[in-house]
Amino acid sequence: MSTPKPPMRIPVLAALLAAFLIVGGVPVLMFWIWPHSATLKNETEQVKERHLLLALNLGSALSRYYVDVVSAFKFIAPEIAAGHEVNFARGLLVNLNFRHICIADSTTGRILKSYDTTPALCPVSLLEKYFSTFKSLVVPGKVVVSPVMPGPHGKPTLFLLKANADQLHIAALETDYFRKLGKQIKFGRRGHAAIVDQTGRVLAHPLESWEMAMRDISKVSAVKRMMAGETGVETFYSPALKGDMIAGLTSVSGPGWGVMVPQPMVELEETAAGIQRSTVLVLFAGMVFSITIALAFAFGIVKSLRPVTVAAARMATGDSSARAGQPTGLFALRETADLRQRFDHMAARVEDAQRSQTELRLQAEQASLAKSDFLANMSHEIRTPMNGVLGMSELLMTTTLDKRQTSFVEMIVSSGNALLSLINDVLDFSKIEAGKLELDPVAFDLRTEIEDVASLLSSPAEQKNLELITRFKPGLPQRLIGDAGRIRQIVTNLAGNAVKFSHEGYVLIDVDGAVIGEHEDMRVALTVTVSDTGIGIADEKLRNIFEKFEQADNSTTRRYGGSGLGLAISRRLVQAMDGKLGVRSKIGEGTSFDFTVELPVDQSEPQPLVKPEEMSGLKVLVVDDLEVNRRILDEQLHSWSLAVTTVPGGREALQTLCDAATIELPYELVILDYQMPEMSGEELARTIRNDPDLCHTPMILLTSAGDSGDGKLFREIGIGSYLIKPVRASELKEAILCVLAKERTRGAALDVPKAQFPVRDGATGESRHRVLFAEDNQVNQLLIAHQLAAEPYDLIVAADGQQAMQCYKSAAESFDLVLMDVTMPELDGYQATQAIRSHEQEHGLRRVPIIGLSAHAGER
Ligand code: ADP
Repeated sequence: MSTPKPPMRIPVLAALLAAFLIVGGVPVLMFWIWPHSATLKNETEQVKERHLLLALNLGSALSRYYVDVVSAFKFIAPEIAAGHEVNFARGLLVNLNFRHICIADSTTGRILKSYDTTPALCPVSLLEKYFSTFKSLVVPGKVVVSPVMPGPHGKPTLFLLKANADQLHIAALETDYFRKLGKQIKFGRRGHAAIVDQTGRVLAHPLESWEMAMRDISKVSAVKRMMAGETGVETFYSPALKGDMIAGLTSVSGPGWGVMVPQPMVELEETAAGIQRSTVLVLFAGMVFSITIALAFAFGIVKSLRPVTVAAARMATGDSSARAGQPTGLFALRETADLRQRFDHMAARVEDAQRSQTELRLQAEQASLAKSDFLANMSHEIRTPMNGVLGMSELLMTTTLDKRQTSFVEMIVSSGNALLSLINDVLDFSKIEAGKLELDPVAFDLRTEIEDVASLLSSPAEQKNLELITRFKPGLPQRLIGDAGRIRQIVTNLAGNAVKFSHEGYVLIDVDGAVIGEHEDMRVALTVTVSDTGIGIADEKLRNIFEKFEQADNSTTRRYGGSGLGLAISRRLVQAMDGKLGVRSKIGEGTSFDFTVELPVDQSEPQPLVKPEEMSGLKVLVVDDLEVNRRILDEQLHSWSLAVTTVPGGREALQTLCDAATIELPYELVILDYQMPEMSGEELARTIRNDPDLCHTPMILLTSAGDSGDGKLFREIGIGSYLIKPVRASELKEAILCVLAKERTRGAALDVPKAQFPVRDGATGESRHRVLFAEDNQVNQLLIAHQLAAEPYDLIVAADGQQAMQCYKSAAESFDLVLMDVTMPELDGYQATQAIRSHEQEHGLRRVPIIGLSAHAGER
């Protein structure tokens, strides 16, 4: 039995690994996505806070600076105007980035007094463009800071202005402080501070060119907010850095300067990505670590379970002594230990069960052995007296009996035969059931065997007016190797049933097949079909027909008798030959059993010659009312290269013969059936003989056994030869050859094949033969003695093996045959035969033929 392929299973370690990858991988994946936005957000918040703080710090520094420069200007400018020495304040002025302080005439712009912190002198008179600008900016009584503008020396400069009566106090302030302050704020790669004046022009900026050009960036949104005096955080696009920026911004109250501390957003994103990378890395490392640990654990648990798997595998191969044992070490977990203990417990129970099963099997085998021994002995014990009863009854029939006595004896014989066949069936079946069926392959002629079976059944078939027909596929090898006895038994059983269950029509034994393989491996795939035109079997019964004691129904059982074992035995026999037995049937129409077996071709002897040259091309007419008979004869004759025509009746036959004679192509042989409706074979034969055109046509008549005594009649009507049905192919061939030979010599005498009329030796008074008969059973002794009384045999009876041996030794040369019973006291048949064979060898005598007789069911 083929076991279904188990589905693919995932090993525990692989499953765990997958589970950990999922469990650990999902968070890693989530962290991969999540922290980026979170970190970015977080970083932005921090930047906002930090940068705002920085901007505020810068703002207050600028505020202080503004206060300082305004105070210094307010204090020193009047001193200069008064013509006082102000060198003491030089250090302070330089620190505050004063370039010079000038006192100009507010009407003409002429410089009245001045003080330079650097050698560059204050101009003699204000240039028109400065003078008009200053005048527009000045607010009486207040110090005003101008927007940044190029100083007289070209550098970015702020001017402090104050109107004082008819004087204009002017201080030029370089923007170094702003740049220094801006440069102090440096973070990230491009982090910087930017300072603008009240008009949005650059005072300090990381791009020096922009500083020098005092670039107007008042359009930038952050600058706008500063100019509006706001404090806060702004994100905006920086044209200078060509990217989005975030900035903390504030403005310095008073001068209206703006301070902002921006940072490119890209840097924030880079920081967020860095944080994300490290988080994922840490998580990944954690995952690898935990997977390693988990796998180590899983490996330990799997290892502790492995002994269970190994033990189970051993048990599966039949070793029930396999045990898992108890786990040790770190992974000796409670559940594992429990499982292993329970497994061992189960294994112990299986071992016990197996042991008792073996004991039971041995007992059963012994019982079976005892049964078959018993059956063998019973067979002997039953068959021996049965043999006596039957034999004696048959002998009784040969004596003078009145009518009543004859019918009684006939009853005894038929009942005895029925009982014997029943016993044979029961014993045969028991033997098969006990597994004692052994095939005995020998070389045999299948065709002869089949024809023998048909001959045997011809008489019961004839009694029921049934045609018994055999067909052997032309060209199929006849000599095969197989258990001829068993094949014969199967065919006998099937054909016997067919005859038994048919009341009209015919029974056909059809042997078909094909040669397979070549040379030494040449075999015949054989199909033997036994079909009949009998009562048929109902569908519901057909299913179980091969079961023992199964019969089509009880009423048929009563009507037809039988044990219901024949088909069961046949099927087992066919199965033993690796074949198949099948059935098809239709109630009221007939049944067809067929079995197929493969048998090797016997190559030790040539296959019988099938095509005699002399017959080739012979023009023959077959007349038979039965279609199947015509078909089989046609096929057979064709295979011998005869030119065959078949017709279904006498009238058609006469017509065909006349037609052929008219065109001078007459038929050379007519094979005709005896029993035909309308015109019988006899009538047809007479008509042919009386027709001057046809009277020389040789004829072979096919008749049934009951008509065989009409030889004289047949001769009279000019039948060349007659054959009793079922016709054997060899006989038909012989008959055709014989008729042809006679035809050649124009002899018209009746000739019948020799095989049909064996001449008994006893009748001719030939020399007698000495037969040694070893048999312990007196009834059998008597029986055989009487059965052979009429034969030319002298029977010397020995009562056991010992006597038989001695008897043989005393006159070894004089015996022509030994009949040896197998079961005898003292020496049995085997031992006696051995003793005879060694005696022959010792004395160089010829080997006398020994025939064993046995009623034992166990022997063959
Ligand atoms: P039995 O000894 O009763 O004939 P078999 O095993 O040979 O036992 O056959 C079993 C039954 O099968 C028969 O009793 C009969 O009912 C049925 N059977 C067998 N062969 C035929 C057949 N050729 N036609 C009809 N019935 C058949």
